[in-house]
Amino acid sequence: MNNFEYFNPTKLIFGKGKLEALKKEVPHYGSKVLLVYGGGSIKRSGLYDKVISILQELGTEVTELSGVEPNPRLSTVHKGVELCKSKGIELVLAVGGGSVLDCSKAIAVGAKYDGDMWDFAERKAIPQNALPLGTVLTMAATGSEMNGNSVISNEATEEKLGWGSILAYPAFSILDPEHTFSLPKDQTVYGMVDIMSHVFEHYFHKESNTLVQDEFCEAILRTVIETAPKLIADLENYEYRETILLSGTFALNGMLNMGLSGDWATHNIEHAVSAVYDIPHGGGLAILFPNWMRHNLHHDVARFKRLAINVFGVEINGKTDHEIAEEGIAALRAFWDSIGAPSRLADYEIDDSKLEAMADKAVRFGPFGNFAKLNKQDVLEIYRSSL
Ligand code: NAP
Ligand code: FE
Repeated sequence: MNNFEYFNPTKLIFGKGKLEALKKEVPHYGSKVLLVYGGGSIKRSGLYDKVISILQELGTEVTELSGVEPNPRLSTVHKGVELCKSKGIELVLAVGGGSVLDCSKAIAVGAKYDGDMWDFAERKAIPQNALPLGTVLTMAATGSEMNGNSVISNEATEEKLGWGSILAYPAFSILDPEHTFSLPKDQTVYGMVDIMSHVFEHYFHKESNTLVQDEFCEAILRTVIETAPKLIADLENYEYRETILLSGTFALNGMLNMGLSGDWATHNIEHAVSAVYDIPHGGGLAILFPNWMRHNLHHDVARFKRLAINVFGVEINGKTDHEIAEEGIAALRAFWDSIGAPSRLADYEIDDSKLEAMADKAVRFGPFGNFAKLNKQDVLEIYRSSL
């Protein structure tokens, strides 16, 4: 494994009824709060009323930014930054899924910057300061609740870029599995695909002596695979929601990938698709990841074989390593099909008309991926096999 330093400043507050922790946490940061949320799910579920009632009890001055889009937009970040600056906001409080959290991270750094927040996404500047951020998560997927990453879409340029900073970690994140009960089946599936994809991005690596990390990754994958069918048949089951919620946090809070570089090619390829077509991130990953795997299998057949046997229970029975590895990829495809995830770009009515433009976006910063370096031609092949 590589040398590494690990530091995660987020206080994770997990479990039933834990929303009450807002009463203790919010006053640490001040009394002027920007409450950020999405398109209305928290109003329908009743969570909005509960949060407002606690903030009122605390005597907090609340400013609201609602309507954060799935695949959050730069124009919404700008609105939030403007509100923070004009109202003297002291704490950004994100209540929602990964999009609301990512947008709030961008607002928190943008509020302390004189230029445009997009400079951070384009690597033209590095955040030097940020407002504190608290989150109440309503969807298991991104791990954004306990990491410093954020993905923002610039609708003017049709770009979707990830950026990260130690300053973008939430100061605290409240995760109550009951807050995820109202998440519909399709979004629940997208979230589980995203969680598994984050684990795959760590698992496909070139480092040696990584038994601890590999075993941890396989444990999370097996856990999601075992729980997913039960959860989609019983969406308000507390224990299944709890298992998936914790899996999502582990998958991308830095615990599984200590000493690993991470591949991240498939996320990059997916971001180029959702930048142009605005499709759900997990849906895009479900289509692309098995095809990334087939494209790169020859780089390290043993790693794919290990996945096939340890995660998908593929039997050896005199098969070649290559056959076992391919059976593992087919098992992943079959598993995602079985829970209702999309499998072709055509499922989102995406044809071959913009493949070149998407591939150009994917290679914007040059060839990418650490398990296997991909260039534009590789990206096009993966897109074509996904049509
Ligand atoms: P999301 O975009 O935050 O939410 C998807 C949909 O689910 C929204 O329509 C939202 O509705 C709804 N929803 C959320 N919680 C709900 C609940 N409890 N009940 C009912 N509906 C609910 O989904 P996400 O997958 O968490 O985030 C996706 C974004 O994160 C993408 O932009 C992706 O690229 C990015 N991402 C970030 C990271 C990271 O580390 N930061 C990692 C991977 C991906 P409302 O808008 O009405 O709330
Ligand atoms: Fe993701």
